[in-house]
Amino acid sequence: MNVEQVYKDANALLEGHFLLASGNHSARYLQSAKVLEYPQKASELTDALASMIKDAGVAVDTVCAPALGGVLAGYELARSLGVRSIFVEKKEGGMELRRGFEIEPGEKVIICEDIITTGGSALKAAQTIEALGGEIVAFASLANRGFCKRVGGENEAKPECKLPKNIPLFSLADFTFEMYAPDKCPMCKEGSTAIKPGSKG
Ligand code: ZN
Repeated sequence: MNVEQVYKDANALLEGHFLLASGNHSARYLQSAKVLEYPQKASELTDALASMIKDAGVAVDTVCAPALGGVLAGYELARSLGVRSIFVEKKEGGMELRRGFEIEPGEKVIICEDIITTGGSALKAAQTIEALGGEIVAFASLANRGFCKRVGGENEAKPECKLPKNIPLFSLADFTFEMYAPDKCPMCKEGSTAIKPGSKG
């Protein structure tokens, strides 16, 4: 599967001049929710991800996603793996399990996101599950922004990666984009204005 082409076809891989949450500028942006607009396509992606996890021999009872961004990817991955799906939600300073979801002692859990950037949300979700007695067996995401090392990927982990190095990250592809400080941005120098994409409006 050509994952980059799947993202392009879904208009999930944008090209232009973008202001990122970090304050940096970039010529490319991954609008990761767009690739999940069509459930049929989403399950093709998670079937491929599930194959990687099964081939690695990782036993899993449950997929847990950090809400909101990870929920659809987590749900589809759970379907592909034939296990249950839960999600954790933000609270002050961390995340918590609500809505009657429970974790059994020793339950083997994969934390799934649509996209892993530095892995901050995924790490908070993992800490929540561990505090309830679950065991984190892997992290998973459809797309990896290249800060963390994925199983089979060529990029090494960067210092920004927050995920623990002793737990594997399964991801379909690395999307490593060049980022510029605003005063060094070549697109700004050409006179264009960066626009703010993403989930926060
Ligand atoms: Zn710029």
